[in-house]
Amino acid sequence: MKSRIYLDHAATTPVSPAARKAVMAALELGGNPSSVHAGGRAANALLEGARDAVARFAGVAAEHVVFTSGGTEAIALAANGARASGPVKPRLLVGATEHSAVLQARDDAKVLPVDGNGLIDLKALAAALAEGPALVAVQAANNETGVIQPLAEVAALVWETGSLLLVDAVQAAGKLPLTDADFIALSAHKMGGPPGVGALIVRDPESLMAIQRGGGQERGHRGGTPNLPGIAGFAAAVAQAHDWSPVAARRIALETRLKAGGAIIHGEAAPRLPNISSIGLPGVAASTQVMMLDLEGYMVSAGAACSSGKVKASHVLAAMGLGPAAGEAIRVSLSPATTDAEIDAFAAAWLAMAARLGRKGAA
Ligand code: PLP
Repeated sequence: MKSRIYLDHAATTPVSPAARKAVMAALELGGNPSSVHAGGRAANALLEGARDAVARFAGVAAEHVVFTSGGTEAIALAANGARASGPVKPRLLVGATEHSAVLQARDDAKVLPVDGNGLIDLKALAAALAEGPALVAVQAANNETGVIQPLAEVAALVWETGSLLLVDAVQAAGKLPLTDADFIALSAHKMGGPPGVGALIVRDPESLMAIQRGGGQERGHRGGTPNLPGIAGFAAAVAQAHDWSPVAARRIALETRLKAGGAIIHGEAAPRLPNISSIGLPGVAASTQVMMLDLEGYMVSAGAACSSGKVKASHVLAAMGLGPAAGEAIRVSLSPATTDAEIDAFAAAWLAMAARLGRKGAA
């Protein structure tokens, strides 16, 4: 039987051996970090050691790290708990290509346009900020196209109006340096840690109200017994650095080969993450492409991984003005473990599919 090749690392990437070991050790340790007895103290020491590791990774002190159940919860906490000054929730401004975790975090978010490469429209942001202070959510890099946002320019606009910046760094963390923001959302399972754990990095802990209060854990910012095995695995994952330059070289080589066969690379003109490519095949539904490639043994996705398992036209590509082409792209995402042989085999399979189904082949 043909072996299967996983090219969907932006959906989730395998748990690293070090993270696995840390999860197992924490499970064996047991104990609730809130208990005052010896078992509780040992669990608390593990929790605080993990907090130190994530803080080091983010370049902040430990009290700025709030552990959550993942990227979605970290974003929801900032979107609903951020306070600029006083008790009033600030307005929320979000980029049109944000992950649904951001777009769905509040019903009253105002959506800002992006250009044809998916870069945020800075003029529209400045105009929206002129109406008064807000919480602005702009991702570090997009999960479907890998497009990297100009966060230094965004931050300057946000801060000169006394507003707050929330950066969804779920895809970028570990691949790009984290830039300054009031809130940064991280997720372990995109970095070699286990799923169901993440963190919100908070510049000023006074600017965050808890959404889930419970027993006052996480210095009152997030009630609930922490997922210590997950957190231990997360800390082990962030401690491991990877060299992403060979990954970028492989992605670029793949894109070059596929373009010769009729592929369109979305967001190509913008700076992008080393590992994500949004590959359009004109005239062929993304769902057909994903199924055909799956039959050939290649696991890729159509835009974002959707909880229903259904393939919908991408809101990211639609926001970039692609029209029907928004439903004709797949996402291929690599890891440092992806080999040249895997890329070669995938390129051959994609080109064969394009020759059979693409407009070029049909003509
Ligand atoms: N933000 C981005 C850019 C993502 O890619 C994801 C996951 O796909 C999330 C947020 C949500 O993170 P989590 O799965 O940890 O809730």
